[in-house]
Amino acid sequence: MVNEKYLFKYLINKLHKENFLNEEELIFILDNVNIYGRDYLMEKADETRKKFYGNRVYLRGLVEISNYCKRKCKYCGINALNKNIHRYRLSKDRILKSCEDGYNLGFRTFVLQGGEDNYFTDELLVGIIMELKERFPDAAVTLSLGERDHESYERLYLAGADRYLLRHETINPKLFEAIHINSHYDERIESLWNLKRIGYQVGAGFMVGIPNQTTEDLARELLFLKELEPEMVGIGPFTPHRDTVYKDELAGTLEDTITILALIRLFLPKALIPATTALASIHRDGRELGLKAGANVVMPNLSPVDVRKDYSLYDGKVSTGYEAAEYRKQLEEEIRRIGYIVDMSRGDYIRWEKQ
Ligand code: SAM
Repeated sequence: MVNEKYLFKYLINKLHKENFLNEEELIFILDNVNIYGRDYLMEKADETRKKFYGNRVYLRGLVEISNYCKRKCKYCGINALNKNIHRYRLSKDRILKSCEDGYNLGFRTFVLQGGEDNYFTDELLVGIIMELKERFPDAAVTLSLGERDHESYERLYLAGADRYLLRHETINPKLFEAIHINSHYDERIESLWNLKRIGYQVGAGFMVGIPNQTTEDLARELLFLKELEPEMVGIGPFTPHRDTVYKDELAGTLEDTITILALIRLFLPKALIPATTALASIHRDGRELGLKAGANVVMPNLSPVDVRKDYSLYDGKVSTGYEAAEYRKQLEEEIRRIGYIVDMSRGDYIRWEKQ
């Protein structure tokens, strides 16, 4: 009989060396990580990150431009069906002002994120992106505005947008249809490939612990990411929101999220991976553990302070303290304390050839 503990370590070594495991091997790791411990996995993930990015952690300033959304995602607090939230959208001037404040704090990536809000037409967004690029030519612009058609993505790219974050949420079509009401699997996946073809640095990702997700699903998410090869991967624990149908569901755990983060680092060694706000929100040490498991990006909140509480995707979302851009210096200290160095440059994806 194979010694399972030996096999566990052998597979992690194999993943570390080859940046790939098949579905069966992945399921073995996921099923046994609680028994044999995730320390070795995290160690190898951290080693891999250091090989390509050293100790650097990139900071991005996040501006939440609107919490209006036409989608009805069952997990999300800003979904169109929620009548209990105060809706807001930022004017062009407020968006530019938030980015200017961020620029003065040293940020060189602005992430404009929001619900799918038709108010933000291509014309309006093109104007915002062009002005940002003109005023802050050394900064990158990342968009995270959900699904738009190919032509729209292209126009925004030509206006100067550099990156686009669009989590695929799940590669299992049945699960996708189960957790969404008016979004469609094929359209979501097609959008991701469109973004890639246009030339964006693309971010995909999913939540850990979404209701009905199986170990097999998690293994397949990793295999899909390997195929898509996104430049960025956003992973966070699912956390219930009181005004959604999932209000009584269990949240994803810190341990599972850390495991998945470490596996992604080993699958996609050069990916830019944030230690997400959702991770920092479920546990005091969430961000620290995320960084130690191979994450190399933190995205503090640059939105105007008066709207932060309204961008409530899930209960307990933190937007104060180290999650707030104003605390950049303190965050820098905190990151240094745990052995990493803040890098305020644009922090683009690095190209490398495997030796
Ligand atoms: N509308 C854009 C989109 O769909 O990509 C950007 C905003 S959307 C709210 C950003 C991400 O938040 C989603 O992709 C989802 O994974 C995450 N999210 C939403 N509700 C969540 C919850 N309850 N727990 C954890 N993450 C959540």
